[in-house]
Amino acid sequence: MSLSKKQRAFTRMIGELIQYAYNAGYELTFGDAYRDPRVFGEQGVKKGYSAINSNHKIRLAVDFNLFVNGEYITTGEHPAYLDLGQYWESLGGSWGGRFNDANHFSLEHQGHK
Ligand SMILES: [Zn+2]
Repeated sequence: MSLSKKQRAFTRMIGELIQYAYNAGYELTFGDAYRDPRVFGEQGVKKGYSAINSNHKIRLAVDFNLFVNGEYITTGEHPAYLDLGQYWESLGGSWGGRFNDANHFSLEHQGHK
């Protein structure tokens, strides 16, 4: 699948994830979504705080801040994160909770998540 097609599928999937979260009684705010390569470097280039091959730089990752009963959840161990992560995986996404980054929801591209 081309990168452009993947980006469009990813955006639709994020919409479904947000809907799922609110239906489950959670609330979200956006953390990092797109990281502009003019600020963070192209894929393969380390610049700023972004990982060298971050999918944020190619519009295939979003970080969400999670709220349950109005409370900001600061630990990735919270069951609501697992719930969202498993739902995201059921859509075909990669969940950062599998590598200690629970608020990161991405779509794999060329081996990067
Ligand atoms: Zn991220």
